[in-house]
Amino acid sequence: MNITDVGHLTSDADIGEDKLELAKSRERKSAWEIAEFYTKTFKDDMKALNLIPPDILCKATDHIKEQISLIKELEKKGFTYGNEDGIYFNTSKLKDYGKLARLKKDKLKFGIRVDIKDKKHATDFALWKFSLKTHKRDMEWKSPWGVGFPGWHIECSAMAMKYLGDSFDIHCGGIDHIPVHHTNEIAQSEGATGKKFVNYWLHGEFLVLKDAKMTKSGENFITLNSLTERGYDPLAYRYLCLTAHYKSPLDFTYESLDSAQTGLNRLRNKILGLKGKKSNIKNTSAYEKEFLDHINDDLNLPRALALLWKLIEDDKIDYKSAIKFDSVLGLELDKEKKEKIPKEIIKLAGERDRLRKEKKWKEADIVRDKIAKLGYIVEDSDSGFKIKKLT
Ligand SMILES: [Zn+2]
Repeated sequence: MNITDVGHLTSDADIGEDKLELAKSRERKSAWEIAEFYTKTFKDDMKALNLIPPDILCKATDHIKEQISLIKELEKKGFTYGNEDGIYFNTSKLKDYGKLARLKKDKLKFGIRVDIKDKKHATDFALWKFSLKTHKRDMEWKSPWGVGFPGWHIECSAMAMKYLGDSFDIHCGGIDHIPVHHTNEIAQSEGATGKKFVNYWLHGEFLVLKDAKMTKSGENFITLNSLTERGYDPLAYRYLCLTAHYKSPLDFTYESLDSAQTGLNRLRNKILGLKGKKSNIKNTSAYEKEFLDHINDDLNLPRALALLWKLIEDDKIDYKSAIKFDSVLGLELDKEKKEKIPKEIIKLAGERDRLRKEKKWKEADIVRDKIAKLGYIVEDSDSGFKIKKLT
């Protein structure tokens, strides 16, 4: 897995403002601090989502040397040209440019001069961009062509080929990267080596934010952290993702996340209930094969998850096999989880307790009803109060 932590432009077309430099003025931090911050957040989220850490997690800023030598190789083979903006890849020189996205050659407008600082063809892209003389960047490096920074696409090609070789089997990424980013990765890598870059591309569809209420309230940027603050288990989000195939868009709403949370809790309780129970199921290999068949069918996780549910409901699975399935699903189904109570509920419960101590029974009951409306119940005992989720 790689982190492309060199600043990137807000557009794929080598124009627009630099995202890191933009964030720099917004967040009043250096580009290095911002890259560090989001890298750390990304790693924390991966951990919370119970993702298996990659063997290598490399950063583009640690591989400038490799990127420069890849550009040099392309230069040697005649794929590059320089202009006032930087060093560009000449896409007309690669005969099958655009094959991944099935870009039509006639639509690529080869030979038509475009207005982007002397770019020869619309699809040509920057390998190395020069820093402006008037503006000192946080991230810039010396190169044989001048001080500047690498293009986004070259970062991925250089790191992937360093660790996986000139050719490798599987490359993942978002579906939005097909027409430009991955198309250009192929162009650079195959231009430099003359070998096939990647055998299989796995492109993930989008997570779609459709909830009108949310977009209206301006909440169109949701982080995993904001979900946990609302009391959701990060793995409820993982469960939600498992309900759609990676090639299908997935709608995000709080209702769908609620059902994912309920589904996860129920699944966990059912499986924990199987623990220690003597099973009279003799042939586990048949359904284990069925599970594996779904996974091998282009990672059909929704089917695999549905199979687990069916087996549980038909009382046809034992604890051991269920946990074996979970080594793929990654939902920590063997761990008893204490449900996190949202901060808002804790605050209300504290308020109710204070009102009771002041003998303001009526007001306390109003708060209790408010808590119940949000799906929780407060139980009083000698040692204080306890919040429970209404089931
Ligand atoms: Zn990439």
